[in-house]
Amino acid sequence: MLNILKFLKNDWWKVTLVFFLTFAQAMANLYLPSYMSDIVNVGIPTGNISYILKIGGIMLSIALIGIICQVVARFISSKVSAGFSADIRDAVFTKVESFSLAEFDRFSTASLITRCTNDITQVQHFLDMTLRMAISAPMTAIGGIIMAIRYGQNLSWILVISCTAIIAVMSFNFLFTVPRFRQMQTNVDRLNLITRENLSGIRVIRAFNAQKIQDDKFNEANVSLTRLNLIIGRIMSALQPMTIFIMNITTVVVLWLGAKLVADLSIQVGDLMAFIQYVMQIMFSFQMLSMTFIIIPRAMVSVKRINEILDTEPVIKNPRQEDIKIPENIGNVEFRNVTFIYPNALEPALKDISFIAKPNEVTAIIGSTGSGKSTLANLIPRLYDATYGNIYVDGVDVKQFDIKNLRERIGYVPQKNMLFSGDIESNISFGRDISRDEILESASIAQASEFINNKEEGYNHYIAQGGTNVSGGQKQRLSIARALVNSPKIYIFDDSFSSLDFHTESKLKNALSNRTKNSTVLLITQRVSTIINADQIIVLDSGRVVGIGKHQDLLEKCNVYYEIASSQLTKEELV
Ligand code: ADP
Ligand code: MG
Repeated sequence: MLNILKFLKNDWWKVTLVFFLTFAQAMANLYLPSYMSDIVNVGIPTGNISYILKIGGIMLSIALIGIICQVVARFISSKVSAGFSADIRDAVFTKVESFSLAEFDRFSTASLITRCTNDITQVQHFLDMTLRMAISAPMTAIGGIIMAIRYGQNLSWILVISCTAIIAVMSFNFLFTVPRFRQMQTNVDRLNLITRENLSGIRVIRAFNAQKIQDDKFNEANVSLTRLNLIIGRIMSALQPMTIFIMNITTVVVLWLGAKLVADLSIQVGDLMAFIQYVMQIMFSFQMLSMTFIIIPRAMVSVKRINEILDTEPVIKNPRQEDIKIPENIGNVEFRNVTFIYPNALEPALKDISFIAKPNEVTAIIGSTGSGKSTLANLIPRLYDATYGNIYVDGVDVKQFDIKNLRERIGYVPQKNMLFSGDIESNISFGRDISRDEILESASIAQASEFINNKEEGYNHYIAQGGTNVSGGQKQRLSIARALVNSPKIYIFDDSFSSLDFHTESKLKNALSNRTKNSTVLLITQRVSTIINADQIIVLDSGRVVGIGKHQDLLEKCNVYYEIASSQLTKEELV
């Protein structure tokens, strides 16, 4: 838990300064009533203006010092806690970026977002509050009690009663709010998930008239969060009036009983006034303390959730520097007895896969949906790690590669094409330092030049988040162009031509074959016509390899392949 404090880094001196300032403020507050009591007890000689000015000046200065200390302390503590939360956010985000897909599956994107934003804000509030209260509140409470007893010994029993009352109110409050704060963060997660899903799926929702169902889901999450907020709000809102009530009753009782004591000459007026002020300070500091205590549980839940991210070691990480091997970049890919089980899944998605894909060859992978084609593709750039077995690229286990180096060797076009907000050019270059010519060439091979040039702003055409303002086929071609940049030695096309018409597909394949001549091409598809000429076809069925060979061989030998082919090709094409 406390390890989160390391994010305070070099701010410890500022923290100390805040403590010092709040200490000074508390001292000033504690001193004022006693100073005043002395004056009242002694009395001011009438007409002695200079004495009044002097005394008044001193009191004003003390009050001013207190206020200045408080203002500066607030200023510094806000700054420290804002910087603290920025540093945590940075660390959390960096960590999340290092996560492999397995960790994303585990945490869920919605929860990762809440943890990066809302949870960190909770911790920031808590730190800000603690910095300002940690010294001043307990000090005022204890100091106040000592002083109150000194000035109003006969009245101390009132103090005991009203403090007990305040503590009782606080504990009641504490008991009822704390468990609810715990639920709060999970509810925020859920709301976040549903909102995200609704917004990104808005097209499908409209097309299926599913607004009502989605609305209900949202409402349910929203209502339960609101209910929690309301309960907490009601309890908290009762707190303030109740404490003020107790304070006022206390004042009345003290004055009433105090007046008699003054009349009996057993207490002086000034002492009585000081006593009242100390009692107020004590109760006020109790209230402050309880506020801090109330947000502790919520902050602790948030700290735990943040720590969960920070403590997660991504299952896929770079090998130790001395273990890294960097073979010559040729493009050989080999699967040796690879079995893969998704985290949380019971059945393996890939079972005992072995094959070799060589440079200058097209290795096609075909199979029905859900047969494990995309899963297989994910294993090569180490988006997931094989559960059993090994994958070799250029003779070296992918786990022994520097991940960056490995991924640089691969041009990967995922099945789910993803574009990012920015212009077309930045989507193709994607942060790599490449020439304009390279971009133009890649776009031209991917058959994207034509539609890009038709756009008014050409390569500077703005792409909306997720690429929603270009068509499916255009998105696909831009993703292909992105993968072609830098001519990698291994290409993985995961169902990358599915949104293209046959004419564009054949033009693209022609242009591609030139570019990919010396590379290894892994072509995942469901269209037999696309791979008739492939050098090697791997047929997947429920995660198993059920056939490896060329089109003709497989037609004869592999039942699954024959079934797929016969459903797509005419009788004449089949022989
Ligand atoms: P294909 O690309 O051949 O259509 P996939 O490789 O996408 O098939 O999926 C293979 C199997 O793995 C399917 O049964 C699918 O349900 C499962 N699967 C895919 N992604 C995940 C995931 N992130 N977590 C758990 N199971 C998954
Ligand atoms: Mg797939």
